[in-house]
Amino acid sequence: MIRVTSTFSHSIVSAKNDLADAEVSVSLIEEVSRQTKILGAIDLGVGNPLGLPPKELRQTVLGASDKLHDYGDIRGISELRSAIAKMIQTRYLVNIDFERQIVITNGATEGLTASVLALLPQNSEVIIFEPFYSPYLDVVRLCGLIPRFVSLSPANGWQFSERELKEAFNSRTAAIILNMPHNPTGRVFNCSEMRFITDLCLQHDVICISDEVYDEIFYTSARPLSVIETPLWSNLAIKIGSFSKIYAIAGWRIGYVAGSPHLIAKILSAHEVLTGGAANPMQAAATAACTLPERYYRLSRQNYRRKRDLLYGEMSKLGFSGQLPQAGLFLTLRPPLSKAEDNEPIFQAMKVLREAKVGVIPLGAFYSQKDSETAGWWRICFARPTNQLKEAVKLMSKWIQAGEAIKTHISPTKN
Ligand code: PMP
Repeated sequence: MIRVTSTFSHSIVSAKNDLADAEVSVSLIEEVSRQTKILGAIDLGVGNPLGLPPKELRQTVLGASDKLHDYGDIRGISELRSAIAKMIQTRYLVNIDFERQIVITNGATEGLTASVLALLPQNSEVIIFEPFYSPYLDVVRLCGLIPRFVSLSPANGWQFSERELKEAFNSRTAAIILNMPHNPTGRVFNCSEMRFITDLCLQHDVICISDEVYDEIFYTSARPLSVIETPLWSNLAIKIGSFSKIYAIAGWRIGYVAGSPHLIAKILSAHEVLTGGAANPMQAAATAACTLPERYYRLSRQNYRRKRDLLYGEMSKLGFSGQLPQAGLFLTLRPPLSKAEDNEPIFQAMKVLREAKVGVIPLGAFYSQKDSETAGWWRICFARPTNQLKEAVKLMSKWIQAGEAIKTHISPTKN
């Protein structure tokens, strides 16, 4: 039995597991992933790149488990911090002092939490583009801050309105959370959009927390811009990075935060009390990841692009519509359904899961309240083996042909 404890807000779901008889409170993404496993369905929900990580990483982690048993440097092992600084230098031509400007975290998730906790005073406002990666709202609320939303419009290629963004900045604004490339839409802001955001941050002395976990997964000719390349970098910005996505090691939980020394010093103390440090063997593997040749990234991007195009093409044939993403691992599509949008996201997800045997994330999970334009849309992850994508398309096609998709929606109380 699934019970939604919030309204349309941040989609935290309270689920009573009938077997374990235990109450758990988790995000919608987590719950869909859990139910997908229980039902033996195909999971196109969670942004977990499935497949084996590179051999070099698996070998390093095995070797490292023979040593590296002690507490390490709370900032992270120096080899990894130094390797990240070198990657940043190569990619963005910016020098970083790895001793003072980088902390290794337990994934980007902890990097984000530690940063919000350490840098932003309670009761101040944080600007978030909507739709948003759902943990942003949870962490902002958990830390006693007030979210202020600026919408990205699907009708307008997921652009923001300059007027709306300008109006969101005020004397209580402490930060803006940027997510580039963007989850769920795959949007990459262009130079003039970045300049507009940068100017507002400088004008209002606002910190830019830039979540760039998909920075290596892009389908545009040029690499997406990073906050590192803006004038905010000297003292008003942090970049949050992750090893989860491009190296397919989401469960190894390694990420990092980079920024100016005074911001990193504060984040480090939050990181220390939250975690006591990141796992050393996994950090050793992440260091090995940094030495992979450029070819690895090129081939990964080609591979993801093929999967994106395959799934987009097949879903279009089934009547789904939406834009091809510029980056990242997700399609955001409007399904050929009727009425589903009346339902809460969790009931939409459970309906598709039970009837079509495919796990997807309703886009409503990425909004603070019901959005009339996109209610009923889905986020679908294409970072899956090709045979799984094809199987999911078959199941979806059967479901749609059987007319299940257009049946009157199930009442939440019956789920
Ligand atoms: N930010 C975004 C935008 C994400 O999509 C994700 C993963 N879904 C994360 C952060 C979390 O990354 P990590 O696994 O490094 O904690």
